Amino acid sequence: METTFDYLVVGGGSAGCALAGRLADSGSDSVAVLETGGHDHHVLVSTPAGCAAMLPRAGSHNYGYRTVPQPGLNGRRGYQPRGRGLGGSSSLNAMIYTRGTPSDYDGWATAGCDGWAWDDVLPLTCRTCARLIHLASALSRRPSRPAIAAMTISMAWIRKALAGTR
Ligand SMILES: Cc1cc2nc3c(=O)[nH]c(=O)nc-3n(C[C@H](O)[C@H](O)[C@H](O)COP(=O)(O)OP(=O)(O)OC[C@H]3O[C@@H](n4cnc5c(N)ncnc54)[C@H](O)[C@@H]3O)c2cc1C
Repeated sequence: METTFDYLVVGGGSAGCALAGRLADSGSDSVAVLETGGHDHHVLVSTPAGCAAMLPRAGSHNYGYRTVPQPGLNGRRGYQPRGRGLGGSSSLNAMIYTRGTPSDYDGWATAGCDGWAWDDVLPLTCRTCARLIHLASALSRRPSRPAIAAMTISMAWIRKALAGTR
């Protein structure tokens, strides 16, 4: 059986899943995601500190790469964990959410990254934050209060920034 798709996304990690989701949202196009790893249904993936158990060595959810010898490390090789499977490295990461500082983004834009200035990314940061609060409330009957509080503070800060009072 031959199947054709309008889009083929290679890699079902953070970027691949987001991209495929956006493409699928258009409703008119068909999208296939090719992921070399397996599913993300694993207790260590869905447990916030679970990554600590997966990080030290290569396994079904961790490529566990080694770098080439690094001159800056006196020729030693570094260890580079990377997620394998749906969700990619976000299935292996520490689930830390942080926003950068305006000067970081403005510095990147000055260095030539068009579209990365703070004023460019601020609306997206705001959208992500609003979605996180919504998700945290929807996913848990008893959402973690410190997490919700931290995100709410973040939202207040962003609203001020949008109003030009940061
Ligand atoms: C240990 C660790 C902790 C982290 N902690 C945090 C954190 O707390 N907060 C945070 O915001 N960020 C964190 N990050 C960073 C964040 O997870 C990554 O920046 C992000 O997931 C990278 O997304 P990506 O789409 O570029 O790659 P990935 O999410 O790594 O996705 C790449 C995908 O492509 C697949 N793939 C590769 N080759 C092929 C192929 N040939 N065919 C098909 N599929 C293929 C892989 O299996 C993988 O699923 C962490 C990263 C790591 C490694």
